[in-house]
Amino acid sequence: MTIFYKFEGKMYINITNGCPCDCVFCIRKNGDSIEDNDSLWLEHEPSFEEITEAFEKFDKNGISEAVFCGYGEPTVRVDMLLKTAEYIKANSDLKIRLNTNGLVRLMHKDFDIEKFRGLIDSVSISLNAPNSERYTEVTRPKKELAGKCSDGSVFDEMLKFAEDMKKICETAFTVVDVISSEEIEECRKISERMGIPLRVRKYVTDNESYT
Ligand code: SF4
Repeated sequence: MTIFYKFEGKMYINITNGCPCDCVFCIRKNGDSIEDNDSLWLEHEPSFEEITEAFEKFDKNGISEAVFCGYGEPTVRVDMLLKTAEYIKANSDLKIRLNTNGLVRLMHKDFDIEKFRGLIDSVSISLNAPNSERYTEVTRPKKELAGKCSDGSVFDEMLKFAEDMKKICETAFTVVDVISSEEIEECRKISERMGIPLRVRKYVTDNESYT
């Protein structure tokens, strides 16, 4: 079972295959791994003991950053994510990044993002689209998430999460170039207005990774 894997000099952490979205560009549709790593489909959601054992065995030579990413949305298991981040901080000098859809507060009612402070050094949030309508088309969040938003917009909740995370750690947005160049420009304007840098990622159809 692959809980930790290497990609482009970073250590990626795969703690869940769960996700409340079904993004049109999701790499999980195109294979079951990244580069020559073993399958990232987990036999079961790993326990804390399995995670720490795998961490200790993992060759961390030359690695400076650990990234919660994997084949799923890491904040589906936000308590395990925090516990794992705490362990990594206590047992290494690695910087910790979280790649996320930014919907943790919709999945876990009343989750306090202050818990990320001091544990997560940077966060990369999937902006994905320039407005709520296109966000729903590209990200395809489960319907029940919209029911949990104050105004029914999952997109607005994700933006609020980004605004709040900016006060806690280094924050960036990403979009994948499956949307038009005009839409990417609109995304750029949102990121400039919010003072959050935007990274445009290329859509990949083979077993490369979005990083
Ligand atoms: S949020 Fe991530 S894991 Fe979930 S469907 Fe989108 S790309 Fe895939």
